Amino acid sequence: MGSARTGSMMDSRRGTYQSMKVIPIPQLADNYAYLVVDEATQSAGIVDCAEARPVLEVVERERVKLVAILPTHHHYDHIGGNQDLLAAVPGLTVYGFDQRITGLTVKVSHGDRASVGGLEARVIYIPAHTTGHIAYYFEREGAVFTGDTLFAGGCGRLFEGDAAMMIQSLARLIGLPDDTRVYFGHEYTEKNLRFALTLEPNNRALREKHTWATAQVASGASTTPTTIAAEKETNPFLRWGSQELRRTLKERFPDLTMSDVAVFAKTRELKDAF
Ligand SMILES: [Zn+2]
Repeated sequence: MGSARTGSMMDSRRGTYQSMKVIPIPQLADNYAYLVVDEATQSAGIVDCAEARPVLEVVERERVKLVAILPTHHHYDHIGGNQDLLAAVPGLTVYGFDQRITGLTVKVSHGDRASVGGLEARVIYIPAHTTGHIAYYFEREGAVFTGDTLFAGGCGRLFEGDAAMMIQSLARLIGLPDDTRVYFGHEYTEKNLRFALTLEPNNRALREKHTWATAQVASGASTTPTTIAAEKETNPFLRWGSQELRRTLKERFPDLTMSDVAVFAKTRELKDAF
């Protein structure tokens, strides 16, 4: 084993870390479950399972032992497969923030740990999409699972919180190191970036990423993961301070208060109708 820092650098772009492998598993129409494998012990955890069957197929193919479910929040497209997984693999540890998580065995809150074999994630509390939403941050490996709070180019809808709460939650995520891989809950990237371009048409990083995402999706490939650095450059929900974004909003809504929360809330409102 090398040092922790070396571990996070090795082949992380392809989802292979020194002792951790991440396998995205498409679910339903556009969801992702992620199989997190501890290569040292061949133990695995599944982040956000909507459908058990495709997950169990990957578990079998990879010859790993499923030991834990790590749901980010209680929506059916993130826990719908829990019951079937528990029936197929008795004794699984099921982490989660609130009682709405099917099969919950270990209740966690901000700062708590969740483990998959020898791998350890820190729980980051990021409410607003739901009041029980959490992220799993594997600090040593430089990877975070953000569910429906942070997407590539977007953020989740505000079902159980408001704009101020979401800004706080997103701030917790963008405080992570820039090279952290961000594994998100839905393949919404192309549309998210198309929307972002209506607010920042001159953002070059954004234009380039939209072109890339369009090609990826057209060829049937996915756009996960992204990175914290890329999101800071291209995600309008992290760019409430952008001069161009503010100028666009001011032109379209002259009466808009230009506070961070008001800019964010207007961006969210426009995206809801996009
Ligand atoms: Zn959700």
